[in-house]
This record gives sequence, structure tokens and C-alpha cells, in this order.
Amino acid sequence: MKIRIGTAGSPTGSNMTGIAVTEKAGLHAMEVQFGRGIQMGNDLAEKIGEERKKYSIGLSVHAPYYINLLSDKAEASRQRIIDSCDRAKRMGASPVVFHPGYYGKLSKQEAYEEAKRQISIILDKVKGWGVEIAPENTGKDTQFGTIEEVLGLANDLKTSFCMDIAHFRAKYRGKENLDDMFAMVPKKHVHFQYSGVEWNSGGEKQHLPIEKAHFTDFARKILERKTDCTIICESPDTFEDAQKMKKIFEDLGWEFEAQKRSKS
Ligand SMILES: [Zn+2]
Repeated sequence: MKIRIGTAGSPTGSNMTGIAVTEKAGLHAMEVQFGRGIQMGNDLAEKIGEERKKYSIGLSVHAPYYINLLSDKAEASRQRIIDSCDRAKRMGASPVVFHPGYYGKLSKQEAYEEAKRQISIILDKVKGWGVEIAPENTGKDTQFGTIEEVLGLANDLKTSFCMDIAHFRAKYRGKENLDDMFAMVPKKHVHFQYSGVEWNSGGEKQHLPIEKAHFTDFARKILERKTDCTIICESPDTFEDAQKMKKIFEDLGWEFEAQKRSKS
């Protein structure tokens, strides 16, 4: 069992220089953010891939936010995920996390079937690229992506998945049950996202700094269940809070694996 903790985006603002800084801070992962669009060219992606090989940092990608596989513009949304996978392949990053879309006028069942159909088209395109795609559970009521829907897709399509704990809390307005979530996730590597969260009547409003007590409870459950996982910190101060998350695990007695750098 391995636990890897990382930042959402680079602590330096540059993915190129962020890898070394993240590793130096004792973290294990970095999620490259294409949230506001993919501004990274192929050359840069390949250079980042070279840089990554010098370190132990695992890279993943967050695809653009304006994706809606359940709209009549699904093709453009599919392309954003495929382009994210292309850069991920060049960087040696996996998985590519994405929010599938909005229910709109579709029933839950129709939305599920459509999401499945759209994602299978993407899977055909990226076959053999060595990049997994990971639909993520979402935090707003209008958004497709309950834990059940995301895990259903991952199971039906044999894809990876992303469990965002902040979204889970917002979707259930703080009445969620983490044990239920852990009971549902398959016994394999889990890609988590974590932060504090504020919600309103529609669900998620914004991400907040981590709350020590809540994260400690979450970390305990990971250790009890021996959940092999990566946890990406999505709080407003991802670099500080990711290190706090790591410290909480250490305070619970967990020893992280030594990294390439610290060994040499
Ligand atoms: Zn997300």
C-alpha cells in the first residue's frame, strides 16, 4: 500500500519548475491544471516529461472545467479530454481527471447512458496511450456525477475514477458518510481530491482550506482500510495544505516511502 500526497497545480506557477519544488517539500504528486484551458504545447509537455523522470513525483492532469459531455456540444468537450490525454501522454502523467457534465433536461438514467456512450468514444481514441481517464464525482446538484454514477462508469467502462471528498460533502450538505464511500470504491488505487468546502442550497459553493479534524478522520479511514491512493490537495493554498495533510498522516504513525532524491 502506498499513499501519495500532492498539489493541485505547481507551487511555483510553472509545471516545469514545480516538480523539483514539490519533491523538495517531501510531497509525492502534482496535478497539472488545465482548468481554464490547455495552454501547454506539445514541446513543453515533452520537456516536463523529461524533467519528471529525474524525480519521484507522479503527475496527473485535471482537464478543463468547461466540459459537458451531456450537451449538444459534446464533441468539443470530448476533444478537450482527448487533448488533455495527449499532453498527459507526453508528460508521462495519468490519470486525466474530468467533470463529466450537467444533467440538463436528461433524466438520471439518460444522463448515465449518454455519459457512458461519450466516454467510450474517448476511450477508443486514447487506446494504447498509457493514460487512464478518471471521471470525477461532482458537488452541485445540477452536475452529473454522484459517487454511484462515477463508480458505475468506472466499472462499466473499465476506467479509473476520481473521488473528490469536498464534492461528496457538498453534494450531501455535510451529511455524507465516508464509510459508505469507502465501502463502494473498488480495492485498487484510488485518486482522491481533498479540501475544505462551503456549500449552499445547490451544493458546492467553493473550496476552503483543509480542516484538521475532518482530514484526520479521513486519513484514519485510509489507514484502517489500507487504501492505496493519491490525494491531491485542492484547497486555496494547495502547497501549504498538502504538507499539512502529509504531517497528519505522519502524526498517525504512517511512514512515507523515501524518495529518489533523499536516498541519493
Ligand atoms: Zn475536479
